[in-house]
Amino acid sequence: MRRKLIAGNWKMNGSLAANAVLLNGIKGELGQPACAVAVCVPAPYLAQCRAELAESPVAWGGQDVSVHESGAYTGEISGAMLTDFGARYVIVGHSERRTYHGESNDLVAQKANVALGAGLTPIVCVGESLDERESGRTSAVVGAQIDAVLAVLDPSELSKIVVAYEPVWAIGTGKTATPQMAQDVHAMLRTRLADKSAEAAELIPILYGGSMKPDNARELLAMPDIDGGLIGGASLKAADFLAIVRAA
Ligand code: PEP
Repeated sequence: MRRKLIAGNWKMNGSLAANAVLLNGIKGELGQPACAVAVCVPAPYLAQCRAELAESPVAWGGQDVSVHESGAYTGEISGAMLTDFGARYVIVGHSERRTYHGESNDLVAQKANVALGAGLTPIVCVGESLDERESGRTSAVVGAQIDAVLAVLDPSELSKIVVAYEPVWAIGTGKTATPQMAQDVHAMLRTRLADKSAEAAELIPILYGGSMKPDNARELLAMPDIDGGLIGGASLKAADFLAIVRAA
């Protein structure tokens, strides 16, 4: 039985003061959640997460990782730096990085591999654009994205990843995939994972992301292959994030 995971993606939002309010709001009401809970925050706030969340059930993580270990890579953040601050997770291949930073399937795959090597759990994002969906290319696009990752990972490491299906047209737009639309892609992803390792495919959580909110979370999370959520906008309000955690 896969334990559900609800992970917040703060993107480039926050301040020390605002984060303190948000994290205290989450901690104050969370209790002992039935699902795993995490927040993926801008790197400057990892130390704040470590200070605020160390004694709580909430894990924290980064939003990107360098493929390099150290050296002359200005602006990059290594896996070891993330783990130095107690990070458990790191998002790789978010569509905003693929779009604005030109990250290819191969680079994302390398990032997933490097994250695992550093002892992090990569949350590997995949998803199609509206144009790709409307032209019937969802399976081809998402399949190629996951296959690139499967091609580089050691089979013994595979069960340590998390996959997030995030249709690009649903991110930050208020448009959500219907539960059945999401389930269809999640099932396809699970089949691809099983082609590599049937055992790992049963263990890997596949999250849905794209305008998941308190009012649609329950229906999405009820689908058999939706094992949690990667939450953008709604992770910035403690009450909304907690409502999604409770739905899981
Ligand atoms: C995301 O950025 O990963 C995301 C799912 O954003 P939102 O929930 O705001 O659509």
